[in-house]
Amino acid sequence: MKIIETIDSFRELRKHAQDQTIGFVPTMGYLHEGHLSLIDHAGRENDIVVLSIFVNPLQFGAGEDLESYPRDRERDIRLAEQAGVDWLFMPSNKEMYPQPMQHQIKVSDGLTGKLCGASRPGHFDGVVTVVIKLLHIVQPQQLYLGMKDAQQVAVIDKLIRDFNFPVNVVACPTVRESDGLAKSSRNVNLTEAERNQAPALNQALSIAADQLANGTEQPAEVRRQVKAYIQQHAPSCSIDYVEITSFPELQDVSSADSAESTMVLVAVAVKFSRVRLIDNRVVQSERKEGLL
Ligand code: AMP
Repeated sequence: MKIIETIDSFRELRKHAQDQTIGFVPTMGYLHEGHLSLIDHAGRENDIVVLSIFVNPLQFGAGEDLESYPRDRERDIRLAEQAGVDWLFMPSNKEMYPQPMQHQIKVSDGLTGKLCGASRPGHFDGVVTVVIKLLHIVQPQQLYLGMKDAQQVAVIDKLIRDFNFPVNVVACPTVRESDGLAKSSRNVNLTEAERNQAPALNQALSIAADQLANGTEQPAEVRRQVKAYIQQHAPSCSIDYVEITSFPELQDVSSADSAESTMVLVAVAVKFSRVRLIDNRVVQSERKEGLL
């Protein structure tokens, strides 16, 4: 595995691999099995797997966990190598942002006015900025993203179509702990009591996914039940949002187009003492009389 820390040296390497396909997995490191599943996917479908590890300051708001975001360079290098990464790109902040940017990307409210975009103003502008930079540097044919961050998949997929990036987005399923909690680098910052309550998110989403897939409840009622379930089983957290939208358009389901069935996203975000957790399900929802 090659470890590359500068953009120039990455470009030099890339120049000599013009006829090879590149699968790219962008991350913020502190690798876990969710990341490793993306690497595995990329390895099966491409000649070269590129993993980037960069904790992008632009996507953290004031008062968020940029400082406490977990980092472990040596462990990440070891796990990346074991997982079969070919090129590990680990730029510094100074390498990625030598001077303040004089151009700003603004993702429309249509995609970011709800879910995490509403709770974290400017977050997706920062995500898209770094993704544009990384795509220009890495020049992959395929980009591997986790459905754990469903809104991020929707935003980046639209970015790629809006700006005609020659890259194909591959959205991979969420990898979970044995008790159902979605794997996340941030899970290490949960207290023991919080960790015990955190699987309630997945449990509530499973119930909601069934109700939406079968069309047995109105979206408003599904939301109410998800909130009640989390409040009962994870009393240490405060609920940031529970939302139900179409996917990947992220429109209110009531105003989604009138097709017989539609992809529906049910997503939650909660805040424990030091950690904000998100999770979701996307289901094919059958429209029943008067529902959705
Ligand atoms: P992060 O390092 O959290 O920015 O995540 C990097 C990539 O890994 C993103 O595309 C995430 O959606 C994806 N990812 C994070 N957690 C998981 C998970 N539990 N399962 C699958 N993919 C994940």
